[in-house]
Amino acid sequence: MNVYKAEYIWIDGTEPTTLMRSKTKILEKGAEPPIWGFDGSSTNQAEGHQSDCVLQPVFQCPDPIRGGDNILVLCEVLDVNMEPHRSNSRAKLREVAEKYASFECLFGLEQEYTFLKSDGTPLGFPSNGYPAPQGPYYCGVGGSQIFGRDVVEHHLDLCLTAGLGLSGINAEVMPGQWEFQVGPLGPVEVADHLMVARWLLCRIAEHYNCDASFDSKPVKGDWNGAGCHTNFSTKQMRESYDACVAACEAIGSRFMEMVEQYGHGIQDRLTGAHETQKWDTFSYGVSDRGASIRIPWQVERDGKGYIEDRRPNANVDPYVVTRLLVDVVCSAAS
Ligand code: ADP
Ligand code: MN
Ligand code: MN
Ligand code: MN
Repeated sequence: MNVYKAEYIWIDGTEPTTLMRSKTKILEKGAEPPIWGFDGSSTNQAEGHQSDCVLQPVFQCPDPIRGGDNILVLCEVLDVNMEPHRSNSRAKLREVAEKYASFECLFGLEQEYTFLKSDGTPLGFPSNGYPAPQGPYYCGVGGSQIFGRDVVEHHLDLCLTAGLGLSGINAEVMPGQWEFQVGPLGPVEVADHLMVARWLLCRIAEHYNCDASFDSKPVKGDWNGAGCHTNFSTKQMRESYDACVAACEAIGSRFMEMVEQYGHGIQDRLTGAHETQKWDTFSYGVSDRGASIRIPWQVERDGKGYIEDRRPNANVDPYVVTRLLVDVVCSAAS
């Protein structure tokens, strides 16, 4: 075959939480993936009478599912005037990241998610009722604690084969709930890798008869929600504890503006229980998993490092959370 397959991936305009979309283009070997188009009226990105949207390739990696010369192509969505579409949060991040490039910001994102069965209940939950209460599931081992490990391992291997910057995985506090970590990487890069990793997760779950959900509170009641803890540092913070504290103070001065953009349903997750601070309260502290921002204990010991913003939801737009942190912390330090 002197052709290869390019899977074009983009983020749609569905509210309140976007979905990922993709379609395949066959290209001649050696040809670069060109700009392409799609029907925006089918993705909540346009009206039917003027439905064309443009796909602009911005990040590509090997396609670990198809293998061979095939690739995944993450795209920004543009309108037909080649301006960023209103749903294109990556374009806004690019501007802010460029403005503050000298701060050399790094991010590590902890993406939590939940596998759902076709009846909508999490893996490990009976169809009616509840499993044993939370306790043994987090980082657990054994058939009555762990649900979905095959798909989790498969997903990790796919991400590594694709060259994505995954740094770990773990089972979470609720049955059927897991986490993967991406980074540390720069603001645009970490969000690109996270989006491709999310797509690979949804894609491979098709083979395991389950769905990966980024819902931030998939089960009401006494069950942990799903977040996307965002670990963040500037060059200054990696050299000084004072800069880490200054970053927490800067976030405190604009915390409400941030939390409003940290994902749909955040008030149901940030309740003050289940290792969260309440959504309308701001606090930071060393080792404090009940704070809005945690300073890891090693950071206090070493007198330098990074901070963890514990507020973003699992369903957060990673281009929004990285833009806000870069903007809030770097503008205050400028
Ligand atoms: P937790 O103890 O909160 O579960 P994890 O180990 O899941 O922590 O995630 C920590 C994340 O922090 C990892 O993704 C890691 O890459 C990231 N990280 C480590 N150092 C830095 C740094 N200097 N700046 C930003 N992120 C960092
Ligand atoms: Mn973690
Ligand atoms: Mn976690
Ligand atoms: Mn964490």
